[in-house]
Amino acid sequence: MAIETAAEARAWGNYVGGEWVGASGGETFDVINPATEEVLGSVPKMSREDTQRAIATARETFDSGVWSQLAPDERSRIMLGVVEKFTEHEDELAALETAQAGMTIRATSTVVIGYCINHWDYFARAANRQLQEPLEPVAFPTHSYNFVLREPIGVCAGIIPWNFPLVMAVWKLAPALAMGNTMVLKPASNTPLTALRLAELLDETELPKGVVNVITGGGASVGEELASHPDVDKISFTGSTVVGRRIMQLASSTIKKCTLELGGKSPNIVYEDADIPAAVDGALWATFFHQGQVCESGTRLILPDSIHDEFIERLVERAKTITLGDPMDYDTDMGPLISSEQLETVSNYVRIGQEEGAKLVLGGKRASVDGRGYYFEPTIFTEVDNAMTIAQEEIFGPVLSVIKVSDDDEAIAVANDTIYGLASAVWTEDYDRALETAKRLRAGTVWVNDHHLINCIAPFGGYKQSGLGRELGSYGLDEFTEVKHVHVDLTQKAEGKMFGVLLSTPPPEP
Ligand code: NAD
Repeated sequence: MAIETAAEARAWGNYVGGEWVGASGGETFDVINPATEEVLGSVPKMSREDTQRAIATARETFDSGVWSQLAPDERSRIMLGVVEKFTEHEDELAALETAQAGMTIRATSTVVIGYCINHWDYFARAANRQLQEPLEPVAFPTHSYNFVLREPIGVCAGIIPWNFPLVMAVWKLAPALAMGNTMVLKPASNTPLTALRLAELLDETELPKGVVNVITGGGASVGEELASHPDVDKISFTGSTVVGRRIMQLASSTIKKCTLELGGKSPNIVYEDADIPAAVDGALWATFFHQGQVCESGTRLILPDSIHDEFIERLVERAKTITLGDPMDYDTDMGPLISSEQLETVSNYVRIGQEEGAKLVLGGKRASVDGRGYYFEPTIFTEVDNAMTIAQEEIFGPVLSVIKVSDDDEAIAVANDTIYGLASAVWTEDYDRALETAKRLRAGTVWVNDHHLINCIAPFGGYKQSGLGRELGSYGLDEFTEVKHVHVDLTQKAEGKMFGVLLSTPPPEP
């Protein structure tokens, strides 16, 4: 049943100020199902002027105080109403996400939508957190009472990628709203439908109109307008490092607060004392989950000499059992890539890998299911040097590069030899060794004997060129607040007001 809902093509509007609107010029663009190459629906192609209207709505709503000044427990209560909507529509959202993003229905229905609910719920409850922190009473420079307020920043823009469309929408909207901000959200053009469906569900709750606005259109038009407009106070971006750099430049014109969640080339170190069967499956899961289109995919497998050959043999045998197929089929392990452009990018990297001397031991070719879809085989390269292009650049596809090392020091040096630092993993049964390695890895997340597991209470974000700031947990909430120090004079004296408290003592007689 859910699958039929997702297959229904329709013309969607954009959500601005609680109204469903189109682009002022009437332009639209199609959203394509990457498994069938069929049109799933069409959405408005908003212009810069349309974007300005959405920003003005978010500004007016913020300044009205209808949400920003609402008591935190009321905000929390209203946001918890969204959890109910999510839960009622879980199956339908899973099917729509699979249809637009090509993520398997097994992933969306058993993990991804549940994840969205769990994370929204966490932020809804966190809206109630302590927003006023008293400081120790002080006598210097004068007797005073001091406290710190955490306040909403104002109008926030959320710009998100296509790989986890609904999770990304939740990661932007939920913490921003919990802290009292308003938002204009721009989903990726390949995958705007679940964000728009979420807006429909939000519209059925008590959330005041204009708090959430969802608009669709190009990065160079809508995205750049959001990143540069003076009425946008904060930009929360997830996407490639190239676009993140551009957003940082644009945001600098008005010194906007920025959170950037960018690309990665995560190392996955397996030590010889690891549980090898678990590490083999873990390495496949780390790389091929969602066809490798995950920012923190473990795309560089780092293996000691001593286990390399045996590990590769097992890895390739297990990888051959991965089923490529219709993502709507519950038994499918890997669905299609997002687009024909992505297919082209991945194919090019495979060609470059071969030209630079890496050994292709599995896959490497485009595939199709029933003669259609943007599929690519699970692909493994061995004999990769970490300086090669396929080890340094983010491919964002199902391509694993295996790098051989001689000891822990070399493993860690190779792991850190990248411009990225989003995530990393280490497999060993020796927890001292794991901890020592975790401390030396330059990455925002380290998994020990695991991969991909991101928790709503734990900060997520990148070292180096993988980003700026953190999402999730109290760290992520803080990113959506301004910090205000309030000083209350407890002396109630006039002396010293005119030229400062330090002059309150009369000067010595000459
Ligand atoms: P992308 O950078 O091409 O696009 C991301 C978003 O930015 C889209 O909505 C796009 O329309 C918009 N955009 C494009 N050009 C813009 C511009 N000039 N100004 C403003 N906005 C612009 O990324 P993608 O291809 O959609 O997604 C894949 C990338 O996202 C990968 O690099 C991946 O690592 C990264 N990613 C990072 C995380 C993380 O948490 N660090 C999570 C998911 C994806």
